[in-house]
Amino acid sequence: MWQSSVVFLIAVVVNLCLASHWGYPTPSPNGEVIGPENWGGACDSGMKQSPVDLAFKASVRGKFPQLHFEDYDEPIADAKVLNTGHSIQINVGSPPNVVLSGGGLPSEYVMEQMHFHWGSEHTINGRRYALELHLVHFDSKYPTIQEAVGNRSGVAVLGVLFYVSSEANPDLENILRSAKTAKDVVGLSDPLLQPLAPEELLPNNRDSYFRYEGSLTTPGCGEAVQWTVFTESLPISFEQLERFKNIKTNNGTVLTHNFRTVQPLNSRPLIFVSPVEYDVEYSTSTTLTYSSALAICLLLTTLVAF
Ligand SMILES: [Zn+2]
Repeated sequence: MWQSSVVFLIAVVVNLCLASHWGYPTPSPNGEVIGPENWGGACDSGMKQSPVDLAFKASVRGKFPQLHFEDYDEPIADAKVLNTGHSIQINVGSPPNVVLSGGGLPSEYVMEQMHFHWGSEHTINGRRYALELHLVHFDSKYPTIQEAVGNRSGVAVLGVLFYVSSEANPDLENILRSAKTAKDVVGLSDPLLQPLAPEELLPNNRDSYFRYEGSLTTPGCGEAVQWTVFTESLPISFEQLERFKNIKTNNGTVLTHNFRTVQPLNSRPLIFVSPVEYDVEYSTSTTLTYSSALAICLLLTTLVAF
């Protein structure tokens, strides 16, 4: 009897150790990170994992009512920047009044926290961006995000991509400058120097995005997430990106990158929502126009010849 208790205890301890010591694989000399992370559980065996490549060719067009952002224009109360050891995070404290709904989402979702990945986790047509912000929300019918994670569509995450620009981003500057002590020590947090409303980190165009069902991108990779990744990206300067890459991890080394490799879509619907026609359709119609003109020319030439 006692042997089985010891085995159980060892299993618990090993699981706890694994849970707190997961990390990102080291990139090759050219900066590419390839191969699985071996995080175990659903991360290795799941069929609806995130991130994915958001390829226009793999997507279908969809139409949803407008997304609704409640109190995104209010500065986050008592906002702090926290070093989690895997990212820089801003927790959204109570009262939980920042709510996302509409846009075809099956429920109302309360914002829990915001964090960053450098480089981006989602790619668009195979292109990786410099940075990706995740605004993490959970279904308001659950008391905590921990309970919501166990349910399909229990979580909704907004993804915002950033491209390298010559101009610094003032909102990212506020976050980076605030993380005075947190940038070097895991578990420490610093108050934000300037007020920050979540809206300031969203693109102007919130009607154009990719939507799919996926997972958390960190262990245990729960397949509970309604993903919305906006197609309009925001600027970050090269110098600001370098400061993200200098944030320290648990063992005192710098967190050079914290993105997971793209996962197979496994025949999940990838929905592209946009009020305007997109490039693939545009180029197809251009080709058709060109073909029609060529056909008319050939017909005229034939007629003239006769
Ligand atoms: Zn994330």
